[in-house]
Amino acid sequence: MSGARLSVDLGRFRANLRELRRRAAPAEAMLVVKCDAYGHGLDRIVAAAAAEGVRWFGAFDSATAVRVRKVTGDGARIFAWVTMTDDELTRAAQASVTLGVGDAGYLERIAAVSRGRALPVHLKIDTGLHRSGIRPEAWGAFVQRAAELEAAGEIRVDGVWSHIAEVSDRDDDIARAAFLDAVSIAEAAGLRPTVRHLAASAAGAARPEFRFDLVRFGAFAYGIRSAGAPSPDGVVPTATLLAPVIEIGERAVTVGVGTLDGLPATLAGCFDVGTPGGPRRLLRIDRVTSTVRPWPGVAVGDEVAVWGPGALGEPSPTDLAETIGTVGEEVMVRLSPLVPREYRVRRHPGRG
Ligand SMILES: *Cc1c(COP(=O)(O)O)cnc(C)c1O
Repeated sequence: MSGARLSVDLGRFRANLRELRRRAAPAEAMLVVKCDAYGHGLDRIVAAAAAEGVRWFGAFDSATAVRVRKVTGDGARIFAWVTMTDDELTRAAQASVTLGVGDAGYLERIAAVSRGRALPVHLKIDTGLHRSGIRPEAWGAFVQRAAELEAAGEIRVDGVWSHIAEVSDRDDDIARAAFLDAVSIAEAAGLRPTVRHLAASAAGAARPEFRFDLVRFGAFAYGIRSAGAPSPDGVVPTATLLAPVIEIGERAVTVGVGTLDGLPATLAGCFDVGTPGGPRRLLRIDRVTSTVRPWPGVAVGDEVAVWGPGALGEPSPTDLAETIGTVGEEVMVRLSPLVPREYRVRRHPGRG
């Protein structure tokens, strides 16, 4: 491999969580850990969040949910919202995973594997994103059916939820109104959803009326800001992608990071990496190496920071993403799983 490594500052991560939990209160904060905890490494991230007092984890799929349960033990609430096969459902039920349900057929399948275990579910209304979720015109019949299955002891409707675009306040406001209608209709059908959740990072951090009982924080927990917007105060990138100096030429320094590590080749020439001598332009990106403009005193074994919190003058993942028209999460999760993750655990003062 190239020699690149991802250094994850768990103290910084916990400080971000403290800040986000402080903002969200009295709503609770869910930590979303899809895509191997946004590339940070699932197990260590879940353990750090649990130690920080996080009770809710957003796992996306069944395999991730079961792995989260192994780390947290009983006590934590684990939410998984991708549709599962019957085998996966059985495993998720054994691990006491709360299932996000946005499809009438899926609700029936959950009831069918339940055998009277009152499996916990959160029902999803489509508030306009059209990704998944029950359309408003079908919601009345859906919650009626859910109430029957709850009365029969097959499911327990703990929550109602949705997902919003968080691109324009106006669209989000319309989605929020549709969400409130859906909650009222569910209550009129006799359901008592005590966990209502709508917001991810951006709306959850900025807009109190979107927090309800729970906010699903992904990107901000890892310090990844939204494209086109500043970082919320107290939220700082938790990971630094580091690459060693391998060879020194007069006009270019070769460093060990390349496209095989997941660095998009289109970034060549677009930005400065952080070096011990300050920011220097990244000139070229090859498969396992890249080249950077030299700095005074450069030595083999020095490390450059490709992205991170900015300690060596490097850009953040979102800064990089903006130069190629994508989002910070994309830059993070493209990082190859073969790049070693290393963890620093020093407590960070942070706020909160
Ligand atoms: C990814 C995801 C989140 C987290 O979104 P961020 O913008 O990264 O905070 C929340 N909810 C759902 C359903 C998601 O898929």
